[in-house]
Amino acid sequence: SCTANGVADAVRAAAAVLAEHRAELIELDRAIGDGDHGENMNRGFTAILSALDSAVPDSPSAVLKLVATTLIAKVGGAAGPLYGTAFLRASTAVGGASELDSDAVVAGLRAALEGVQARGKAVEGDKTMVDALIPAVAAAEQAAGTEGADVAAVLTAAADAAGKGAESTVDLVARKGRASYLGQRSAGHLDPGARSTALLLGALARAAR
Ligand code: ADP
Ligand code: MG
Ligand code: MG
Repeated sequence: SCTANGVADAVRAAAAVLAEHRAELIELDRAIGDGDHGENMNRGFTAILSALDSAVPDSPSAVLKLVATTLIAKVGGAAGPLYGTAFLRASTAVGGASELDSDAVVAGLRAALEGVQARGKAVEGDKTMVDALIPAVAAAEQAAGTEGADVAAVLTAAADAAGKGAESTVDLVARKGRASYLGQRSAGHLDPGARSTALLLGALARAAR
């Protein structure tokens, strides 16, 4: 369930998945960036695990805020502030309820996307995490509008769409971030941040089921 403890468990599951995929994310970033994305994400989520071990905050919103502040403090580069902003905006958007429903989750996802775009100025097709997030939010909104959709259904739809969105970055030429320095040579490679977004949402969705 989407109580503070449920959200904390989902975040722990995301940390485990990002640790498992650390080398893969490093390889993806080595091809079109500076090869640190797997380490950046793993460092951030390892710090989040420690913080949650000391104390789980008392609302879902507060858990998301802890994730945000830890990422902002521990992860440099592009992805730290972008993911930090995403979780910070989500923390505000989900509201103060003790348990999140599917509408709150959709609001959180939409706010996360808006935060990433406000901060990084990337639009669809720039070959960034935004290319995973835009379809994820659209799919979440569509799923939430269907009869009887629960949080797990909404997150599963978002994660599946994020996976397809991430795959779509292979053919794109990067227009934001380090990969954009490569110009046309960035084409033919999966964007590491889009991949980490899909992994993260996949982990959250499985934890919600
Ligand atoms: P850095 O590029 O500083 O080493 P990371 O390797 O951790 O940071 O993260 C790179 C990822 O960040 C990219 O794969 C891309 O998805 C994402 N990214 C970079 N710049 C932007 C931006 N302006 N907007 C959205 N996402 C971005
Ligand atoms: Mg990098
Ligand atoms: Mg870097």
